[in-house]
Amino acid sequence: MENFVFQNGTKILFGKDEEHQTGIETAAYGKNVLLHFGGGSIKKSGLYDTVVASLKEQDANIVELGGVKPNPSIDLVREGVSLCREHNIDIILAVGGGSVIDSAKAIGIGAYHDGDAWDFFTGDAQVTDCLPIGVVLTIPAAGSETSGGSVITNEEGEYKRAVGHGTMRPAFAILNPVLTYTLPAYQTACGITDMSSHIFERYFTNEKNVDLTDRLCEATLKTIIQQAPLVLEDPENYAARAEIMWAGTIAHNDSLGVGRSEDWASHDIEHEVSGIYDIAHGAGLAIIFPAWMKYVYKHDVNRFAQFANRVWDVEIDLNDLEKTALEGIRKTEEFFSSIGMPVRLSEIDIDEKHFEEMAKKATDRGPLGGFVKLQDEDVKEIYQLAK
Ligand code: NAP
Ligand code: FE
Repeated sequence: MENFVFQNGTKILFGKDEEHQTGIETAAYGKNVLLHFGGGSIKKSGLYDTVVASLKEQDANIVELGGVKPNPSIDLVREGVSLCREHNIDIILAVGGGSVIDSAKAIGIGAYHDGDAWDFFTGDAQVTDCLPIGVVLTIPAAGSETSGGSVITNEEGEYKRAVGHGTMRPAFAILNPVLTYTLPAYQTACGITDMSSHIFERYFTNEKNVDLTDRLCEATLKTIIQQAPLVLEDPENYAARAEIMWAGTIAHNDSLGVGRSEDWASHDIEHEVSGIYDIAHGAGLAIIFPAWMKYVYKHDVNRFAQFANRVWDVEIDLNDLEKTALEGIRKTEEFFSSIGMPVRLSEIDIDEKHFEEMAKKATDRGPLGGFVKLQDEDVKEIYQLAK
């Protein structure tokens, strides 16, 4: 196990009715609140009214900025930064999913920067500080509720880029599984795919002595695989929604990556696809991850055979570990298909047209991946396998 520092200070309030605590939790950071949300699901569900009432009980001054799109845009971030300055905002309250939370974080760092907020995503500016972020989560998926990362899209050039810093971790996150009952099956499945992928990115490591972390990864994956059909069958199954919601947070709160190198190539390869085609991140990962696995498994057949055996209950064939490894990859793909995800680019009408450009853009800041280093030619091959 490598040396590591683990610090995740996000306070979690988990369970039924916890959104009524929003006002009290927010008030701890000041009165001027930027209420940030998406395209309207929170108005339809009634969550918006609950949150506003809870904030008003604490005499908050609320400035609203709705309209965050999936694959959140830098344009709205810029608008948010101006609002923070104009209204002397103390805390940004993100009510929604990863897109809203990521947008809130980008606004939070932008408020401390004299130049354009996009500078952080090109590497032209370094994050120094972030306004406090509060979260009421409505979709278990990105894990952004406790992560220090933000992923933003710049339509100009079709770039989707990530930035991360410890100060961007939310101060608190409210997780009520009941708030996820209204999720369409497709979004539920996208979330399940994203959280599974956050574990894969950490599981495929070159570090050998990581047994505890391996087993924590495997247990979380097994829970996700077991609960996924239950939430899709009965969207109001509280027990299953709760397991999935907590799994989404555990998958990305950094505890599953300690003491080892992580990979993250598949996320970068996927970001190029959702940057150009504006598809859901989870759906893109269901296509890219199995393709990445097929391309790299020979690098460590033992690890892939362990994955097949411990996560997918594939019997280990000691005479043919490669067969075991490939069966694990097949089962991964089959699982994504079974929950309604596409597993080939052709299923969502994406052809080869931009493969070259996407591969170049994905690697324009250097080779990808901590498990296997990938150059643009490798990335292109992975798009081919995903065709
Ligand atoms: P999302 O993009 O925030 O939301 C997806 C859709 O689900 C939206 O249309 C939203 O509608 C809807 N929705 C959310 N909650 C709902 C509910 N309870 N009922 C009905 N509809 C609901 O989804 P996400 O997967 O959480 O976030 C994806 C983004 O996160 C991507 O850009 C991805 O790259 C990024 N990401 C970030 C991290 C990180 O650590 N920062 C990690 C992985 C991925 P409304 O807009 O109407 O609410
Ligand atoms: Fe992700």
